[in-house]
Amino acid sequence: MESGSIAISRAAKKAEFPAKFQLIAAMNPCPCGYWGDIQNNCRCTSEQVQRYQNKLSGPFLDRIDMHIEVPALSHQDLQESSDLIERSIEVKKRVINAQKKQKSRRNHCNAHLSNKEIEADCYLSDDNQKVLEKTMNKMKLSARAYHRILKLARTIADLDNSEMIQLHHLTESIGYRKIDHFQ
Ligand SMILES: [Zn+2]
Repeated sequence: MESGSIAISRAAKKAEFPAKFQLIAAMNPCPCGYWGDIQNNCRCTSEQVQRYQNKLSGPFLDRIDMHIEVPALSHQDLQESSDLIERSIEVKKRVINAQKKQKSRRNHCNAHLSNKEIEADCYLSDDNQKVLEKTMNKMKLSARAYHRILKLARTIADLDNSEMIQLHHLTESIGYRKIDHFQ
Protein backbone atom coordinates (compact mmCIF):
# COMPACT_ATOMS: atom_id res chain seq x y z
CA MET A 1 0.00 0.00 0.00
CA GLU A 2 2.80 2.45 0.78
CA SER A 3 5.56 1.43 -1.62
CA GLY A 4 3.37 1.89 -4.71
CA SER A 5 4.58 -1.41 -6.16
CA ILE A 6 3.88 -5.10 -5.83
CA ALA A 7 6.57 -7.80 -5.88
CA ILE A 8 5.80 -11.33 -6.95
CA SER A 9 8.41 -13.93 -6.08
CA ARG A 10 8.54 -17.41 -7.53
CA ALA A 11 11.24 -20.08 -7.24
CA ALA A 12 13.51 -18.74 -9.95
CA LYS A 13 12.29 -15.22 -10.65
CA LYS A 14 11.10 -12.10 -8.94
CA ALA A 15 9.02 -9.47 -10.72
CA GLU A 16 7.94 -6.05 -9.58
CA PHE A 17 4.88 -4.24 -10.93
CA PRO A 18 3.62 -0.68 -10.36
CA ALA A 19 0.64 -0.53 -8.00
CA LYS A 20 -0.02 3.08 -7.02
CA PHE A 21 -3.68 3.46 -6.17
CA GLN A 22 -6.11 5.42 -4.03
CA LEU A 23 -8.13 3.22 -1.71
CA ILE A 24 -11.64 4.35 -0.81
CA ALA A 25 -13.55 1.83 1.28
CA ALA A 26 -16.81 1.73 3.22
CA MET A 27 -17.97 -0.54 6.02
CA ASN A 28 -20.93 -0.87 8.35
CA PRO A 29 -20.25 -0.12 12.03
CA CYS A 30 -21.59 -3.53 13.13
CA PRO A 31 -23.22 -6.68 11.65
CA CYS A 32 -26.77 -5.16 11.69
CA GLY A 33 -25.56 -1.75 10.50
CA TYR A 34 -27.22 0.42 13.15
CA TRP A 35 -24.52 0.78 15.81
CA GLY A 36 -24.43 4.49 16.78
CA ASP A 37 -27.58 5.28 14.74
CA ILE A 38 -29.95 7.66 16.53
CA GLN A 39 -33.08 6.52 14.66
CA ASN A 40 -32.70 2.74 14.76
CA ASN A 41 -31.65 0.34 17.50
CA CYS A 42 -28.58 -1.82 17.02
CA ARG A 43 -29.35 -5.50 17.73
CA CYS A 44 -25.72 -6.57 18.18
CA THR A 45 -23.96 -7.38 21.44
CA SER A 46 -20.83 -5.39 22.28
CA GLU A 47 -18.76 -8.56 21.63
CA GLN A 48 -20.29 -8.89 18.16
CA VAL A 49 -19.53 -5.23 17.39
CA GLN A 50 -15.95 -5.62 18.63
CA ARG A 51 -15.41 -8.84 16.65
CA TYR A 52 -16.84 -7.19 13.51
CA GLN A 53 -14.65 -4.08 13.81
CA ASN A 54 -11.56 -6.17 14.62
CA LYS A 55 -11.82 -7.80 11.18
CA LEU A 56 -9.80 -4.82 9.97
CA SER A 57 -6.37 -4.99 11.59
CA GLY A 58 -4.79 -2.01 13.35
CA PRO A 59 -1.81 -1.80 10.92
CA PHE A 60 -4.22 -1.78 7.95
CA LEU A 61 -6.39 1.02 9.42
CA ASP A 62 -3.23 2.92 10.35
CA ARG A 63 -2.45 3.23 6.64
CA ILE A 64 -5.80 4.82 5.80
CA ASP A 65 -5.52 8.63 6.10
CA MET A 66 -9.14 9.57 6.71
CA HIS A 67 -11.78 7.68 8.69
CA ILE A 68 -15.16 9.35 8.36
CA GLU A 69 -18.42 8.41 10.03
CA VAL A 70 -21.41 8.91 7.74
CA PRO A 71 -24.67 8.99 9.71
CA ALA A 72 -27.94 8.11 7.98
CA LEU A 73 -29.93 11.16 6.82
CA SER A 74 -33.72 11.41 6.83
CA HIS A 75 -35.51 12.42 3.60
CA GLN A 76 -36.29 15.79 5.13
CA ASP A 77 -32.65 16.45 6.05
CA LEU A 78 -31.59 15.59 2.50
CA GLN A 79 -34.03 18.06 0.94
CA GLU A 80 -33.42 20.85 3.44
CA SER A 81 -29.65 20.74 3.26
CA SER A 82 -29.31 20.60 -0.54
CA ASP A 83 -29.28 24.43 -0.83
CA LEU A 84 -26.49 24.78 1.72
CA ILE A 85 -24.10 22.30 0.13
CA GLU A 86 -21.05 23.68 -1.65
CA ARG A 87 -21.41 22.87 -5.35
CA SER A 88 -19.05 20.31 -6.96
CA ILE A 89 -17.77 22.91 -9.43
CA GLU A 90 -16.63 25.11 -6.52
CA VAL A 91 -14.99 22.17 -4.74
CA LYS A 92 -13.22 21.23 -7.99
CA LYS A 93 -11.70 24.74 -8.23
CA ARG A 94 -10.36 24.50 -4.67
CA VAL A 95 -8.93 21.03 -5.29
CA ILE A 96 -7.18 22.11 -8.51
CA ASN A 97 -5.68 25.13 -6.71
CA ALA A 98 -4.48 22.95 -3.82
CA GLN A 99 -2.94 20.45 -6.27
CA LYS A 100 -1.08 23.27 -8.05
CA LYS A 101 0.33 24.47 -4.73
CA GLN A 102 1.52 20.96 -3.86
CA LYS A 103 3.08 20.33 -7.29
CA SER A 104 4.91 23.68 -7.23
CA ARG A 105 6.23 22.87 -3.75
CA ARG A 106 7.46 19.31 -4.37
CA ASN A 107 6.41 18.23 -7.86
CA HIS A 108 4.13 15.63 -6.28
CA CYS A 109 1.08 15.70 -4.04
CA ASN A 110 1.20 15.76 -0.23
CA ALA A 111 0.26 12.06 0.01
CA HIS A 112 3.72 11.19 -1.32
CA LEU A 113 5.77 13.49 0.88
CA SER A 114 8.80 11.74 2.38
CA ASN A 115 9.48 12.06 6.11
CA LYS A 116 12.16 14.67 5.37
CA GLU A 117 9.76 16.66 3.20
CA ILE A 118 7.10 16.44 5.93
CA GLU A 119 9.55 18.03 8.37
CA ALA A 120 10.16 20.92 5.99
CA ASP A 121 6.65 21.46 4.58
CA CYS A 122 4.37 20.56 7.50
CA TYR A 123 5.87 22.95 9.99
CA LEU A 124 3.79 23.54 13.16
CA SER A 125 4.02 26.40 15.63
CA ASP A 126 5.25 25.40 19.11
CA ASP A 127 1.70 25.56 20.52
CA ASN A 128 0.29 23.39 17.72
CA GLN A 129 3.17 20.94 18.09
CA LYS A 130 2.21 20.55 21.75
CA VAL A 131 -1.44 19.91 20.77
CA LEU A 132 -0.32 17.15 18.38
CA GLU A 133 2.01 15.57 20.93
CA LYS A 134 -0.71 15.55 23.58
CA THR A 135 -3.12 13.93 21.10
CA MET A 136 -0.52 11.31 20.15
CA ASN A 137 -0.11 10.30 23.79
CA LYS A 138 -3.82 10.39 24.58
CA MET A 139 -4.88 8.36 21.52
CA LYS A 140 -1.70 6.22 21.59
CA LEU A 141 -1.07 6.91 17.93
CA SER A 142 1.79 5.38 15.92
CA ALA A 143 4.62 7.26 14.20
CA ARG A 144 2.87 6.43 10.93
CA ALA A 145 -0.35 8.08 12.12
CA TYR A 146 1.71 11.11 13.22
CA HIS A 147 3.07 11.64 9.70
CA ARG A 148 -0.32 11.04 8.14
CA ILE A 149 -1.97 13.63 10.39
CA LEU A 150 0.67 16.18 9.36
CA LYS A 151 0.32 15.45 5.63
CA LEU A 152 -3.45 15.72 5.84
CA ALA A 153 -3.25 18.96 7.88
CA ARG A 154 -0.95 20.34 5.13
CA THR A 155 -3.57 19.42 2.52
CA ILE A 156 -6.40 21.00 4.53
CA ALA A 157 -4.28 24.18 4.83
CA ASP A 158 -3.64 24.10 1.05
CA LEU A 159 -7.38 23.80 0.38
CA ASP A 160 -7.84 26.79 2.69
CA ASN A 161 -5.15 28.72 0.77
CA SER A 162 -3.08 29.07 3.93
CA GLU A 163 0.73 29.01 3.95
CA MET A 164 0.85 27.96 7.62
CA ILE A 165 -0.90 24.95 9.15
CA GLN A 166 -3.30 26.60 11.60
CA LEU A 167 -4.76 25.00 14.71
CA HIS A 168 -8.12 24.32 13.03
CA HIS A 169 -6.38 22.58 10.10
CA LEU A 170 -4.54 20.36 12.57
CA THR A 171 -7.59 19.54 14.71
CA GLU A 172 -9.65 18.74 11.59
CA SER A 173 -6.92 16.36 10.47
CA ILE A 174 -6.80 14.67 13.90
CA GLY A 175 -10.61 14.33 13.78
CA TYR A 176 -10.31 12.14 10.66
CA ARG A 177 -8.56 9.39 12.67
CA LYS A 178 -12.02 8.33 13.81
CA ILE A 179 -11.36 4.62 14.08
CA ASP A 180 -8.32 5.22 16.30
CA HIS A 181 -10.77 6.84 18.78
CA PHE A 182 -12.93 3.80 19.33
CA GLN A 183 -10.29 1.10 19.11
ZN1 LIG B 1 -25.67 -3.70 15.20
